[in-house]
Amino acid sequence: MSQIEKKFLETFGEEPDLVAAAPGRVNLIGEHIDYSDGFVLPFAIKDRTLVAARKRNDSTVRIASAQRRNKIVTVDINQVKPGLKGEWERYALGVLWSMGVTEGVDLMIDGHVPLGAGLSSSAALECSVATAMNHLFDMGFNLEELARLTQKAENQYVGVPCGIMDQSVSLMATQGSALLLDCRDLSTKNISFDVASHGLELLIIDTQAHHALTDGGYAERRASCESVVAKLGISSLRELTMEQLEGSRALINETEFVRARHAVTEMKRVLDCVEALNVSDFEKVGQLINQSHISLRDDYTVSCPELDTAVDAALSAGALGSRMVGGGFGGSAIALIQASKTTETIGAIEKAFSSKGFKAPRFFTSLPSQGAELISRR
Ligand code: ADP
Ligand code: MG
Repeated sequence: MSQIEKKFLETFGEEPDLVAAAPGRVNLIGEHIDYSDGFVLPFAIKDRTLVAARKRNDSTVRIASAQRRNKIVTVDINQVKPGLKGEWERYALGVLWSMGVTEGVDLMIDGHVPLGAGLSSSAALECSVATAMNHLFDMGFNLEELARLTQKAENQYVGVPCGIMDQSVSLMATQGSALLLDCRDLSTKNISFDVASHGLELLIIDTQAHHALTDGGYAERRASCESVVAKLGISSLRELTMEQLEGSRALINETEFVRARHAVTEMKRVLDCVEALNVSDFEKVGQLINQSHISLRDDYTVSCPELDTAVDAALSAGALGSRMVGGGFGGSAIALIQASKTTETIGAIEKAFSSKGFKAPRFFTSLPSQGAELISRR
C-alpha cells in the first residue's frame, strides 16, 4: 500500500477507490500575461500533490490534508456553493462545485509542493482533485475543460483572480518539455527544454518573503490591463503591438502605459524564448529571462527587495539568467545556471540574504516533469 493509501485508511477507516496526482509549476517566461490572453512557457516540477478518493453512499464530503494535521473537514455536498465559509479545503470544495459533483466523497490530500512559495500548490491541489473526480465519477472532461473548471474554482469559489496558466500546466505538462500555452484558446505545444544535457540546471529560490496574491496588488495589475483594453477598444492586450501602444499614449495614463508595455514586450519575449530553445541557444534564453525580470520589476512593479536580491546574487555568481516568478511581492525566483555552479550560486544567494537581514531562502532544483495523472485505481 502506498503512503497516501495508508493515510487514507488511517483517516477514514477504509481503503480509497483511487489515487491521482498533479504537480506544481515554474514558469520559465511569460509572467502576468495569462490574463491578457498571452503566451506563457511554464513547466511542471517533480513535486506534486496526491489525492486519494473514495465514493460514499450519501451526500457527505469529508476532506483531510496531511499538511493540515489530517483533521477531517465535513460538509454536505448540497451546501458546497461559493460563499460557504472555510479555510484551505475551499480549494478542493471549489473544484467539486465547479465540476458539478453531486455525490458524497472522502478525500485525503498529501501535498509535496511547498505551500505559498509561488510554485502553485493551489493549482496542484485543485488539479489533483479534479483528476480524481473526473475518474471517480466518470465525468469525461478533457484537459482544457478541467483547466477552465479548476480556474473557475479558484476564481469564483476561493476568490483568487488567478489566470489559466497554473491549472493548464499542472494538467497538460509532459516530461522533458516546457509547455507553450496560448492563453487565448488554450492550445498548447511542447517545447523541448532539455537543460540537463547542456550541463545546466534550473535553480528555484523560495525567498520565503510574504506571498500576497490576495492582497490587492495582483487585482490592481489586472485592473490596469483591463482599463487599457477598454480605453483602446480592443479585446485583449494580445492584440496590441508596441507601435500601437506608443501611438495610443494620449488615451491612457502613465501607469496603464507601463503595465501594458510589460504585457506586450513579455508576449514577444516568450515567442523569442521558444525560438532560442528550438536551437538550444541558452545564452539567449538567459538574456530573455533577465529582460523579463527587469520589466516585472520596473514596469509592472511586482518584485520586492528579496526577489531582486536573489536575482542579482544569482547573476553575480554567473547565472545565465534569473527572474522572479509567479504573482510577485515575494515567493520564488528562478535562475538558469551551470549545474556545476549550483552550490556556489546557493552560497552566494544565502550570503546576500543574510547580509541584508532577510530570512534564509529555500532552494529547489527541478527538471521538467509530467502533468496530472491517475496513479492507481482499485
Ligand atoms: P501557491 O499556489 O503559490 O502555493 P497560494 O496562496 O495560491 O500559493 O495557495 C496556497 C494555499 O493553498 C494554502 O494556503 C492552502 O490553503 C492551499 N493548499 C495547497 N496545498 C495544500 C495542501 N496540501 N493541504 C492543504 N491546503 C493546501
Ligand atoms: Mg496559487
